[in-house]
Amino acid sequence: ARVDNPYAGAKVYVNPEWKAKADAEPGGSRVSGRPTGVWLDRIAAIEGAGGKMGLRAHLDAALRQGAGVVQLVIYNLPGRDCSALASNGELGPTEIDRYKRDYIDPIARILADSKYAGLRVVTTVEIDSLPNLVTNTSGRPTATPECDVMKANGNYVKGVGYALNKLGAVPNVYNYVDAGHHGWIGWDDNFAASAQIFRQAATAEGSTVDNVHGFITNTANYSALKEENFRIGDSVNGRSVRESKWVDWNRYTDELSFAQAFRDQLVSTGFRPDIGMLIDTSRNGWGGSARPAGPGPATDVDSYVNGGRYDRRIHVGNWCNQAGAGLGERPQAAPAAGIDAYVWMKPPGESDGASREIPNDEGKGFDRMCDPTYGGNVRNNYSKSGALPDAPLSGHWFSAQFQELMKNAHPKL
Ligand code: BGC
Repeated sequence: ARVDNPYAGAKVYVNPEWKAKADAEPGGSRVSGRPTGVWLDRIAAIEGAGGKMGLRAHLDAALRQGAGVVQLVIYNLPGRDCSALASNGELGPTEIDRYKRDYIDPIARILADSKYAGLRVVTTVEIDSLPNLVTNTSGRPTATPECDVMKANGNYVKGVGYALNKLGAVPNVYNYVDAGHHGWIGWDDNFAASAQIFRQAATAEGSTVDNVHGFITNTANYSALKEENFRIGDSVNGRSVRESKWVDWNRYTDELSFAQAFRDQLVSTGFRPDIGMLIDTSRNGWGGSARPAGPGPATDVDSYVNGGRYDRRIHVGNWCNQAGAGLGERPQAAPAAGIDAYVWMKPPGESDGASREIPNDEGKGFDRMCDPTYGGNVRNNYSKSGALPDAPLSGHWFSAQFQELMKNAHPKL
């Protein structure tokens, strides 16, 4: 039988491949012993492509480490990353059958091996997919043709339903569905609608909500965990902080308050009352010299919010290799009510996308949100991208980013 919180009392697997990269960096040994997610980001990753460890190799290494929990990222939907280009994948929009037979089925077969029955396998399912069907489809100014296609053909919903059902049939698998972050679905238009689409996916392809152990927020994103210098209920000169340019009518100012509230919303939408949340704190520390020491001046809402916020992004919609970011809370179990763990699902030091066009055979495109000279688009209110320069393809090692994340870590290293 599954436990309520798979992280409770358990040692979490340290990916030796990530550890080696971190150890090769000056100062990297301060963090290299931390657990990070293993991304199965293409079919070949299951067997291990180009000399890299495959899924069995990771599970065997986890057994040797005496780990209790292994963290996997299921990330290969047809038409992947429909609102951006940096993490487009190998499967075209219609390739749902390949997704099922060549990707999910082999993963499920390996996980079902009795040799691994003693490991708790946390699977985080399909980052940045379902919320795109709510926020980036026709009827919204942020719509993209690619997301309209994925909504119309149903392959995100079917793929997630199939994955949850197959993986959830393995008794030691704990499925957590990706739930974006507060700066995406924290607005009234998106909040309940996202919970609805998660329910639709969790009950597609023969799945039921019982296959969902919880949800993960902020995966590979930069939203601060707790903004302590201002609260959503604050006002300045009779104007709510919700009217500030930064908050822009969102209901939430940070990930912890969002994750806890969204958990309640999911339960009221039909998910099990005992679901737990994970929050990716790999890159939301925002320490370093730019971290405000206290609230901003109470002259007007913008000065108050901008002077006090830890999240130093130019716009909350910026997502690629953010300059100034730092490592966040170290991975830990049961840190707050409703939260199963803070995790480092995105391995710190792995790029979010290339800052210029780089030919590749991974299906990855060039997204100008990764280009520091770009002036933005409707999804970030035409702001600068805030991305670091000279970034490699998504998933590839980005030494300068890793160094900056360590420098700006909060808590400090
Ligand atoms: C990339 C994946 C990579 C992952 C973790 C994603 O943005 O598309 O290839 O495995 O990040 O770094």
